[in-house]
Amino acid sequence: MARALVWACWFVAASAVLAQEAPLDGQSGRNLLLENFRPKPTLKVDQHLLARAKFPVVDVHTHFREKFRGTADELDSWVQLMDRNRIAVCVSLDGQWGELVEEHASLLWTKHKDRFAIFANIDWRGGGKQDDPASWDCLRPDFGHRTARDLARAKERGACGVKIFKGFGLSYKNADGSLLAIDDPRWDEIWRACGELGLPVLIHVGDPAAFFLPIDETNERWEELHRRPDWSFYGPQFPKRGELLAAFNRVLARHAKTTFISAHFASNAEDLAEVGRWLEQYPNLYVDIASRIAELGRQPFTARRFFLKYQDRILFGTDGPWPEERIRLYWRFLETEDEYFPYSEKPFPPQGLWNIYGLNLPNEVLRKVYHENALRLIPGVREKFTRAFAALP
Ligand SMILES: [Zn+2]
Repeated sequence: MARALVWACWFVAASAVLAQEAPLDGQSGRNLLLENFRPKPTLKVDQHLLARAKFPVVDVHTHFREKFRGTADELDSWVQLMDRNRIAVCVSLDGQWGELVEEHASLLWTKHKDRFAIFANIDWRGGGKQDDPASWDCLRPDFGHRTARDLARAKERGACGVKIFKGFGLSYKNADGSLLAIDDPRWDEIWRACGELGLPVLIHVGDPAAFFLPIDETNERWEELHRRPDWSFYGPQFPKRGELLAAFNRVLARHAKTTFISAHFASNAEDLAEVGRWLEQYPNLYVDIASRIAELGRQPFTARRFFLKYQDRILFGTDGPWPEERIRLYWRFLETEDEYFPYSEKPFPPQGLWNIYGLNLPNEVLRKVYHENALRLIPGVREKFTRAFAALP
């Protein structure tokens, strides 16, 4: 009896060691973990690895505070990357508010005033505590009015637009714990002021469709959500994605004189027919392509038709600064008809397990997407662009 027990224990221990030593790498008949899957296409097709854009570019969606925390020297080398790639101007969406706008401007404008434009943000929290919604300034009377005044000052400090982060709709709360509604009339004065001040509003509403679905074997972004479960908005504690998008559409309808650039292809690149209907219904709506070449590039026929039809309504953006390899994939996506290439420099596709196809856009559409639409919409960018372009190598 005792001997049988010893044997059983030995067997359990030995299997545990074996299990530890044999990674699920798909080799020698072993199973394969999804995160270890690194398929190398055997496909042989033409490749055009573009080192720079065909026409000068305004990148309307960059984060020079959130993602770039570098020194002035590092900013110099970023500007060299811009030169190499023909990016004339980057719009930093991280301008913040009040005197902080000047702080951000001093990083970007001390040496490179023509290369960067700045969008201001809204100080919803004020002096309130992060985890205590009742203490947030946006719940106090007259917040819209005070914010409108702040935005006028931000404009005097050089900001040329306003960026709204996705926490608006997804996480900022009322005192009772309910989420702030995107179309709450309390914010109307803010949107109206943006229109009157001529400040376009670049707004991130919601997130990819897959982030609102269960994290299970049917989720097309399972691998990403498994890595980052905090990106999931599935569950009763979160709003429905369709409701967020609908609430934003009501704001578009109420504020026809305010220009809105809806980030990440209006957060609905999974359904271009719907985005097309919105563009037709709301003439004050524009979209940027930031961080959505994965989505657009897996539907190249639909996406190309969309770009041709709505060529005046699409702006170039990357959500960077990114490594140069990723920036260059944007040129390849928009300009070539390359097939089945990665949309990211990361070895494991970070936004869905697939490759993309180029759109081969005609020159007149490329010019509009790369800069003409941005020059028309964002005040002051034309002047920066003209000077920056003249100095581009
Ligand atoms: Zn962004």
